[in-house]
Amino acid sequence: MRIIEAILRELDRRKFLGFPIWEFSYHSFFRQYGHFFLREIALRHPLRTLAGLWAYRQVMRNDGLVTRLCAGDEEAFLQWTCSESRGNACQGDGLLVALSFCQKPLPGSGVSRGGCPAGRFNHECAVLGRPDPFVPEERLPLSCRTCDVRAFGLAALRAGAAVYIMTSALDIGWDILVPLIDRHRFRQGIFFLCPYSMPAFILPLCIGRMEALFVPYDAGDCRNYSQFIRADVGQKSERTQLSSVAREKVMALLDRIATGRDCPPSRHFRREGALFVPTTASNG
Ligand code: SF4
Repeated sequence: MRIIEAILRELDRRKFLGFPIWEFSYHSFFRQYGHFFLREIALRHPLRTLAGLWAYRQVMRNDGLVTRLCAGDEEAFLQWTCSESRGNACQGDGLLVALSFCQKPLPGSGVSRGGCPAGRFNHECAVLGRPDPFVPEERLPLSCRTCDVRAFGLAALRAGAAVYIMTSALDIGWDILVPLIDRHRFRQGIFFLCPYSMPAFILPLCIGRMEALFVPYDAGDCRNYSQFIRADVGQKSERTQLSSVAREKVMALLDRIATGRDCPPSRHFRREGALFVPTTASNG
């Protein structure tokens, strides 16, 4: 087994046939997510899967801070998002901002104290779920004041984007990938991810033809498959963090989307399953 893993890692290192996901695919083949991928994506959409595999080799570009799965740079991403011609963008169906449960504070000392009031390994946020999520900070629990889920969730709300708190790969498959591939819901996404899992994550988004930006964690991230698979069931004792540069860059991008889009303002989210979808006068 160790020899097989060593070979697969070497194939990943060399990006054999253009794919750095040999080890991930091998392990996933024996797990629920692998079966889900084969059954719900590859077998249901064989031609799109082939096109996605081809696209995967072509489209990934990386400037070291943000990995782009789209034509052009962040400026093009911004223009695309703000374009009035994308009809459902104002209904919360255009842009998705996907954060991870591991960005929530851990129970402990200092400002985190009790950790996330909504619990950690779930799709919930007690602040984003409020009818008045822009509540003054001093009225919130200490944990929430410094929480990136709140900060990026509110920036996403201003930008008219839906928010999803990622947990397991299987949940992401059902909540995001199936609607994307079946109905082309969420044509653009901003994903906060571990650099380790990013290559595997990008493949189904290529199949769904999503334009996406991937922002890697700078600390607390999973570095190998065994850490990833423990986090996949909620066993994650680190809190993932972004670099301050990446944080500012994504915040600035969301602020520019908020001012550049031509949609009625959204003041709170409504729940649609695990998603937080911004409400507007027409949908909420
Ligand atoms: S803001 Fe963060 S800590 Fe507070 S409820 Fe939301 S996810 Fe939990």
